[in-house]
Amino acid sequence: MMPGDVLNTDVLVIGSGPAGSAAAAACAQKGLRVVLIERELFPRSHPGETLHPGVEPLLKQLGAIEPVLAAGFLRHTGNWVQWEAQKHFVPFGEDDSGAWLGFQAWRADFDNILLNQARASGVEVLQPCQALRLLVDGCKVVGVETSQGTFRASIVVDATGGHHWLARQLGLQINYHSPRLIAYYGYATGECPARDDAPAIVADSEGWTWTAKVQPQLYQWTRLSLVGKQVPKDWLPDEFHGLKIHGKMHAADVTWRIVSQPAGSGYFMVGDAAMVLDPASSHGVLKAIMSGIMAGHLIAAELLGNLTPAQATQHYCQWIHNWFQHDVENLSKLYAMLPN
Ligand SMILES: Cc1cc2nc3c(=O)[nH]c(=O)nc-3n(C[C@H](O)[C@H](O)[C@H](O)COP(=O)(O)OP(=O)(O)OC[C@H]3O[C@@H](n4cnc5c(N)ncnc54)[C@H](O)[C@@H]3O)c2cc1C
Repeated sequence: MMPGDVLNTDVLVIGSGPAGSAAAAACAQKGLRVVLIERELFPRSHPGETLHPGVEPLLKQLGAIEPVLAAGFLRHTGNWVQWEAQKHFVPFGEDDSGAWLGFQAWRADFDNILLNQARASGVEVLQPCQALRLLVDGCKVVGVETSQGTFRASIVVDATGGHHWLARQLGLQINYHSPRLIAYYGYATGECPARDDAPAIVADSEGWTWTAKVQPQLYQWTRLSLVGKQVPKDWLPDEFHGLKIHGKMHAADVTWRIVSQPAGSGYFMVGDAAMVLDPASSHGVLKAIMSGIMAGHLIAAELLGNLTPAQATQHYCQWIHNWFQHDVENLSKLYAMLPN
């Protein structure tokens, strides 16, 4: 496709993080014609490596479980937690086949696997290709102008992450449910035996620190200050003492927020594009994949005539708002346990 060309498709998905690849694959599995555009070349780095075992059935549904298992990501049986009480181990649980295992999925590889799975499901992928401008006819979203030409689509799916590209293009309200929260994160190389069996979250009077082994000899930390304190550039958590800082420290806005209307005429928002919580909620990737699959089912139902557009969007908006509300209540209870 060349700049200036116009292409018609059933579904255009913008962004190929876990939410975008899941939505694209779910739509393609239902026989829809799907184009997925991603502005970055893969593999690209991204935070968010710790995945709860609950992600496995979703990966199975997408047909991605085998390549994920074959990737050899580190696995763990639970997390160390030091919140208001002594540090203790919280296991994920077990069934007849043994302990449930979470993943430390290196996101550059994990996101690439999901993208390849979307391709294998019949999705046409354009990369690098950036969404530039939303096309709207009356009050219906009808397509997107991109760096590689114009796409007209029956449904546009926004999976661009926490910058809320489509919501900002449409001028939709974003509702905030916490004070401004910035998560700082970085990596360190070396050996930290204390962190080799499982990740840990440790709260203190000003916030919390998350530490995890993400690859052999590579460790990740995330620090969230609840009092708005910035983390110095050369900071490392105490337990990483002796490790070497690897790459730059980064910051991400993790203020709790939700787009007022996460689906509407001609569009759906999935993953962080629809709602964001801070990483203590611990399942951003799972939520991204699940919302992608849910949107895929509803889009197919709408385009194949099994639901009216109003029914599909209403159902999705209700589902997203309920999930967000549930997570906000749980996170609020968690933070209420902290002394300050
Ligand atoms: C510090 C930190 C730690 C975290 N830890 C965890 C964790 O341990 N476990 C967990 O489950 N979650 C964690 N999360 C949350 C998790 O990273 C996100 O919830 C998840 O990545 C959301 O996936 P997504 O597909 O919605 O968006 P993203 O993964 O952000 O993907 C969006 C994609 O859209 C592309 N894009 C953006 N704009 C455009 C455009 N205009 N045109 C084309 N493409 C575009 C981007 O390049 C990107 O590839 C963490 C988050 C942070 C900040």
